[in-house]
Amino acid sequence: MTERAINFGAGPSALPDSVLEEAARGLVNFQGTGIGIAEISHRSKEFTAFVSNLESLIRTQLDVPPTHKILFTQGGGTGQFSAVVLNMLARHRLLHPNLTDEERFMDYVVTGSWSKKAAAEARRLGGGKVNIVAESSHSIPSHDSFKFSSDPALIYYCENETVDGVQFSHEPSSPASFPFHLLPQNTLLPLVADYSSSFMSRKIPRLADHAIIFAGAQKNIGPSGLTIIIVREDCLVDVDAAAKLGAVPVPITMAYKTLADSSSLYNTPSTLPMYMAGLVLERSQELGGVQYFEELNKRKADKVYSVLKEGEAKGIFHGKVKEGSGSWMNITFGVLGEGAEAKFLAGAESRGMKALKGHRSVGGIRVSLYNAITEEQTDQLVAYMREFITENA
Ligand code: PMP
Repeated sequence: MTERAINFGAGPSALPDSVLEEAARGLVNFQGTGIGIAEISHRSKEFTAFVSNLESLIRTQLDVPPTHKILFTQGGGTGQFSAVVLNMLARHRLLHPNLTDEERFMDYVVTGSWSKKAAAEARRLGGGKVNIVAESSHSIPSHDSFKFSSDPALIYYCENETVDGVQFSHEPSSPASFPFHLLPQNTLLPLVADYSSSFMSRKIPRLADHAIIFAGAQKNIGPSGLTIIIVREDCLVDVDAAAKLGAVPVPITMAYKTLADSSSLYNTPSTLPMYMAGLVLERSQELGGVQYFEELNKRKADKVYSVLKEGEAKGIFHGKVKEGSGSWMNITFGVLGEGAEAKFLAGAESRGMKALKGHRSVGGIRVSLYNAITEEQTDQLVAYMREFITENA
């Protein structure tokens, strides 16, 4: 493929060239059927076999246990801000029918813009009280500040804050890791995680302890329009029975049980994004799965953080996130000096590196290093950052 820029965008974001080329062929003729993927019935035997393979690609690579279903839907991460609340409130209502809304808690850990938005949606929907367990910006809160409710309907966190560049550490001993040790043992934890911008980029610590893990596809694994949900079986509840007991009613396509009972084919799914996600995940499986990407992504992030530090020492860059809480996927920093940010972006653009501008709500620079960004592309950015430091020091 010619004339492709290096796309450091935060999502939708870069996809592997080989996948795009194969998808282009599938758009014309899906698996030799003579019908393109955007045209074929979602109930055809070829497509349903493809969905079942997509499910098993995720299950194998993330080592998802049989206690958890893998579901596909639409509506993005934002759709799940609502769906997790509705389903988990229904589950809690069935477990504790006599609690009032004032006595029913939803615990939120707020580490940046996306978890803040999710908490706002929970407050908007009602049916329980939102308890902010811990809150911080530009860092993961220290473990001793976490104040969980007893027996909440859900405990919510965002593993990687895409806008702010804050991510929970992967090292269980790190103060920036998720404090699983503060939660009760041997219970079906109502733990919910937004993995939108880190799904399939590395292993998921304590996956089996989660009630729900969700992610939009448009960062590491495909185009927008597909949302992946991993749900523990006890969270596939009869939402209509819960509504009869007073729970907030759940739209039929948002009920996890509907999706599970129909193998994610209750209504027409996002066939083209599912197809492309399947191609991406087949390729990752061939490369060595999530383990391969974990090692690659760590090397990429280490290289960028290292040059960022060099720039900080020279007064050129300013890292926005506390050391230890920095994301492997989205690295955020400022360029110091009048007009310096625009100069940095223009220099990158002239070298074929695009979409480095930070989110409109926070400004600055954001480097997104999702799975499809290669180490060579990262090296090119690092070389440019080093050149920028030398020229401006
Ligand atoms: N959560 C996170 C961590 C995100 O990065 C995003 C999107 N960038 C969302 C939720 C919202 O996802 P969507 O746009 O698919 O609704």
